[in-house]
Amino acid sequence: CGIFGVIGVQDAASFVALGLHALQHRGQEAGGIVTHDPEQGFNSARRFGYVRDNFTSQSVMETLPGPLGIGHVRYSTAGSKGQTQIRDVQPFFGEFAMGGAAIAHNGNITNANALRRELIERGSIFQSSSDSECIIHLMARSLQRTIPERMEDALRRVEGAFSVVAMTRTKLIGVRDPLGVRPLVLGKVGDGWILSSETCALDIIGAEFIREIEPGEMVVITAEDGVQSHFPFRPQPSKFCIFEHVYFSRPDSILGGRSVYETREAIGRELAKESPVEADLVCPVPDSGTPAAIGFSLESGIPYAMGIIRNQYMGRTFIEPTEQIRNMGVRLKLNVNRALIRGKRVILVDDSVVRGTTSRKIKDMILDAGAKEVHFRIASPPTAWPCFYGVDTPEREKLLAATMSEDEMRTHLGVDSLKFISLNGLYRAVGETNGRDNACPQYCDACFSGEYPVRPSDMIEKGFSL
Ligand code: 5GP
Ligand code: SF4
Ligand code: MG
Repeated sequence: CGIFGVIGVQDAASFVALGLHALQHRGQEAGGIVTHDPEQGFNSARRFGYVRDNFTSQSVMETLPGPLGIGHVRYSTAGSKGQTQIRDVQPFFGEFAMGGAAIAHNGNITNANALRRELIERGSIFQSSSDSECIIHLMARSLQRTIPERMEDALRRVEGAFSVVAMTRTKLIGVRDPLGVRPLVLGKVGDGWILSSETCALDIIGAEFIREIEPGEMVVITAEDGVQSHFPFRPQPSKFCIFEHVYFSRPDSILGGRSVYETREAIGRELAKESPVEADLVCPVPDSGTPAAIGFSLESGIPYAMGIIRNQYMGRTFIEPTEQIRNMGVRLKLNVNRALIRGKRVILVDDSVVRGTTSRKIKDMILDAGAKEVHFRIASPPTAWPCFYGVDTPEREKLLAATMSEDEMRTHLGVDSLKFISLNGLYRAVGETNGRDNACPQYCDACFSGEYPVRPSDMIEKGFSL
């Protein structure tokens, strides 16, 4: 998901809408905005579909007045399978003794089922099926005096991955979990302050990138006093999601001081060094494989070509929640550039193999178009484990790499060769020159290594075994 907040500007809602539009790649199912205005109080609008289709019309935007607002773009992850209901669309809003608060959450709470059970037993009435709603109820039950204190209290009980943007009548609040699994950055625009999942959403509104919110940090921002920083959690070694670098973030964002694009290009270079192959063309599977394919081409000297053309009007296929839509998705979205491919030995570069459905169909299309050989190079190690921290991967059994060796996957996909970047190669590409520190990995890489930095207790309760 993508989250965004702003304080201290005129017409916060239009900033939030633009910010969410820039974060649309992080979630396309639905979006919501909450604003506060001193005269009109809190207002919210939550809708299915794209930001551009919902938060551009005057009739919606004029219902969201005020200098302070937050927003969320959603895609559903583990625990919330099936059709999204409007009640699950964030931001969530709660009314407390000291006034209301709204929150938007990116990540996944790994002890949400246990918390929900406990809260319901003690009388909480849940409105949604979302794990994120627990935070509101924990805040409501807290005995602390101020809303930021109640939020600290609530988040100390929550396990898993969370980047949160919240607002009261006068404050904008941002928090990252102690491991800092999901991103969150601070920006400044005029006299106003911004919180955003990624820096690309600062660029769109002409805001200046100040810094990342640190793992375990809570910032409380007011229009008068600016940013105050707290560290409410026990410090722990950080575990930023390495897959944000590979796929999830936009290539024009900056993560951990590094351009995502440059990292992806470096991944492609690493791949070319680790798994070279003689061929005529390097083609990306657009758009997620593009920077890595450029890196592969630069390193290998094999010409880069757009052998597959993407229809720009389709969203990211994997974000569609059902298998049936996903299956159709590949053809609706990608087409082979036949004239280029005929008679050629083609290297296809993609970011990841999950179920393997995309890769299989692309291979069929490429062979159909008369390619002589097809070689797959993948910009991440085999995805053998599900993510429980906010990226939508299927159950373990549906992950190709969970049940097959690399060679079996190659046969299953029907390609001439298939190679994944090594875990160490990936770490080098994100800037860890000595590779992965196996005693204490510098990132979360659980979907590749099976080493989960936070125990996925809800899933273990449901029968998942590590
Ligand atoms: P597959 O067809 O192998 O299931 O999906 C792989 C494609 O889905 C890749 O091209 C990639 O762009 C996209 N994808 C990337 N990350 C994820 C993820 O975490 N989950 C899923 N389901 N698909 C992803
Ligand atoms: Fe990121 Fe993978 Fe960890 Fe999930 S399991 S947070 S996708 S690295
Ligand atoms: Mg892709």
